[in-house]
Amino acid sequence: MHNIKGVRGAPDILPQKSSRWQRIEEVARAALRRYGYAEIRTPVFERTEVFIRGIGEGTDIVEKEMYTFTDQGQESLTLRPEATAPVVRAYLEHQMAAQSALVKVYYLGPMFRRERPQSGRYRQFHQIGVEAIGSHQPAVDAEVIDLLWKLMVEEFRIPGLELRLNSIGDVACRPEIRERILRYMRDRASELCTDCQGRLGRNPLRILDCKQEGCQRLVAGAPKPLESLCEACADHFAQVRSLLDLLKIPYTVDDRLVRGLDYYTRTAFEVVNPRLGAQNALAGGGRYDGLIEVMGGPPTPGIGFAIGLERVMASIPAEADAQTSLDGVYVATIGQEAHRTGMLLLQELRRRGVRGLIDLEGRSLKGQMRQANKDRVRYCLILGEDELAKGHATLRDMAKAEEQSVPLDHVVARLLELEGERTG
Ligand code: AMP
Repeated sequence: MHNIKGVRGAPDILPQKSSRWQRIEEVARAALRRYGYAEIRTPVFERTEVFIRGIGEGTDIVEKEMYTFTDQGQESLTLRPEATAPVVRAYLEHQMAAQSALVKVYYLGPMFRRERPQSGRYRQFHQIGVEAIGSHQPAVDAEVIDLLWKLMVEEFRIPGLELRLNSIGDVACRPEIRERILRYMRDRASELCTDCQGRLGRNPLRILDCKQEGCQRLVAGAPKPLESLCEACADHFAQVRSLLDLLKIPYTVDDRLVRGLDYYTRTAFEVVNPRLGAQNALAGGGRYDGLIEVMGGPPTPGIGFAIGLERVMASIPAEADAQTSLDGVYVATIGQEAHRTGMLLLQELRRRGVRGLIDLEGRSLKGQMRQANKDRVRYCLILGEDELAKGHATLRDMAKAEEQSVPLDHVVARLLELEGERTG
């Protein structure tokens, strides 16, 4: 029998790494709450048409990256490759507009795309994202971008990031933008990579985003969306920028930045870690004023972002994990009677919120002390036969290497007192 392996591109998150994930999730949830976002949890699968409509035919995701299956020969379902379309589906289905003119929600969870696995690119990966649905106001754009930047820099504490910003127009000026790029690229089509030759017909804007060297050379001379913005879009962009300046958010205007998906309008932004190599985009977002209508709702503006958590984890300095401080107590015992007493003490300590461990493998005292070190506890409570006979236990502070003798019926109170001193 051979061992069954996990699927390539769908990595396990092992216990050594999961505490880092938990820390990131906790600080993110707290910050999102402070910005007035509430969590929405949509299913990991949806009817396929949610994504065909919401992401758009002709995009890489819909054309070749979706995990789609037919459920019991009836309905076509798809594992979500992203969460904006599902959130909009839920927003319309549950008439969330009736609850509030501006709906602010966040999500956190796995996404699925059948991409070629490589460093920083997986087939199951995780995103934290927000959607703010219902307002055109530039203040929403500024608050969303401010939130993203604060999460990355102050909460996740990732050094050396760059924030890139662009505007890609709306229904009024996008046709002109598209036409100008198309005209320029069509004359030079033979110099484009095969992917971009395909994009020419479907989504010429996306050529601006291509990483191929030949295409980049062409893009350098191509017309930029910013040059053809209509007055309303130019004014919107100027207001977003002015608010970001007010909030002291450092951004650079990147006039080649476009988002991969068709429904994006106006503001587009990205957070990049230049040290990460090819897959260096940690987060991306933008306005999608056309999406809700495409999904069958009334014309409704929206904006959001999604952060790729695997790339966040890869960007956090290794020291961040080593700093986990000593926590809780290990009860080391000699003999069966002491072990029984230890289990009772632990029951009470755990009930009172203390992290508590005890030997479950019949180790020697030396082995137990070694394990206590490995488990990174702050205290070790030693219950030997002699001590037990006298109604005492030895309490060892592992950080200070100090010991004291404590009467058994005071052990819980003493430990709670010490924990209180340390944390209070
Ligand atoms: P997108 O939904 O394509 O705008 O992506 C938003 C963010 O999710 C990106 O900036 C990445 O950090 C992350 N991301 C997207 N696709 C993948 C993937 N296949 N593997 C890992 N992270 C991804």
